[in-house]
Amino acid sequence: MRNFKNKLKLVLCIAASLILAASFFASKIFNPGKRPAGTGYNVILLIIDDLRPDHLGCYGYRRNTSPHIDKLAGESCIFKNSFSDAAYTLPSTISILTSVYPDSHGVFHVYKDKLSPRIYTLPEIFGIYGYKTAWFSVLKEPHLDIKAGFGRGFQKAGNLGASLDETADILSWLEKNRGKKFFLAVDARSVHDYYDFFIKAETGKNFSLISDIRKVNEQYYLKLVEAARLGRPPFRSPELLQGNEELFDGNYREGKEKMILGLLDAAGRAEAAVIAEPLYRDFVKRVGPDHPNLLVESYDMAVRYTDEKLINPVLRKVKELKLYGKTIIIITADHGELLGEHGFYGHNHLLVDESLRVPLIIRFPCLRNPRSIKALAQGVDIMPTVLELTGLIVPSQVQGKSLVGLMCKTGSGNAREYVISEGESGKTIRSADWRLLFDYSGNCLLYNVVSDPGGYDNKCFKEEQVACRLKSALKAWEESLPSYRDQEYFFDPGVDKVAQERIRKTGYW
Ligand SMILES: [Zn+2]
Repeated sequence: MRNFKNKLKLVLCIAASLILAASFFASKIFNPGKRPAGTGYNVILLIIDDLRPDHLGCYGYRRNTSPHIDKLAGESCIFKNSFSDAAYTLPSTISILTSVYPDSHGVFHVYKDKLSPRIYTLPEIFGIYGYKTAWFSVLKEPHLDIKAGFGRGFQKAGNLGASLDETADILSWLEKNRGKKFFLAVDARSVHDYYDFFIKAETGKNFSLISDIRKVNEQYYLKLVEAARLGRPPFRSPELLQGNEELFDGNYREGKEKMILGLLDAAGRAEAAVIAEPLYRDFVKRVGPDHPNLLVESYDMAVRYTDEKLINPVLRKVKELKLYGKTIIIITADHGELLGEHGFYGHNHLLVDESLRVPLIIRFPCLRNPRSIKALAQGVDIMPTVLELTGLIVPSQVQGKSLVGLMCKTGSGNAREYVISEGESGKTIRSADWRLLFDYSGNCLLYNVVSDPGGYDNKCFKEEQVACRLKSALKAWEESLPSYRDQEYFFDPGVDKVAQERIRKTGYW
């Protein structure tokens, strides 16, 4: 009798699990019954790190920086108002490859945060459906460290340095997989590192901004150390220093600087950025007089270089292999770049259009009417769009909206009312007309992106209703997000085990 009861329990348990599993998968299937199991399209996702759309010909730029991107854009849907989910590489790239907002996936700090195993990555999903998957990027770059988790599901990870010398490896991979379904993702750092080898090539002088920037970083690090020793902001609690002496020994190493920043809370990091800002301003002032427009010209050269050395050969190879008719091609960026606007260079200081607006060019085989789309879009929308176009399961974690409905009338999806982005200084919400953000001190800034695109006229108090509406939308968005922060961390391999243990005990890691 007991045996029978146990067996019955087991059968009921299995039946319950099957029902649960069936409902779990059912909730993830896109439009079951109306869509084939998969269109079998290949996908190529080209993320050009740091690329501003307004420096591309197809977005109206005055210089001929991007002839090959422009040609592709002529056969694609071009999103004119696409924004990144974060103002810097790590959280933003994770969001593109998971469709989970940074606030929800919680992967912000290099050498530390790790993506929750509860989140599917895009390559994992493609892998389930028998796709070959590959990732090419600067593998040693901490912001693109596949240990952070987004690398999960890529069967191959190849290095692609800032000079793009390994583009041939991408072409070989395409050739090798020509007869299979594939997902190829690339993050090119050639535009991101524009101030280095392009400037050297242009000036012909033994002069490298990279080493000068490193000197600025060292000064910044030493100022952080000094602040920690004196217990000044951003180091409010003296216990941060206790037990972490080796991090504050005054010998600069980039990894250490990043770990110190990781020990700070959001307010501390914002104050640390305030320490850095005058140093960088001074640096730009020092470089500027001898080299007027050098930074912008180098940036443009880097865009043209990427167009020639990566985009052109990849597109040519896809056509040569006769795969153009069955391959979805997407060109985008993980964030923009401030080129002197608002007094800044770089991208993680201010959450404004220049640091957040990205190109989004989507070309897919059955596209009938290539065109420009003004509707708002953002990085988290890429994964549901790609999955809808390939006819594959959309996991329930997805927080973005498919853009297929905007690109062709038969698809699903509606236009967004807002886009939301994050950075070390906080969050920002943008509608078609307004952007609301908070500065390092938590002050509200509201500006009209149509009449005042530079954001110089703060309307926070004059347009109270608009500010209130955007604030409540931001709050509702925050409350709607699940948290995937699993407290699973990893350490910079340069920090020894004893130090790791001590840092862990502080409870800050
Ligand atoms: Zn980046």
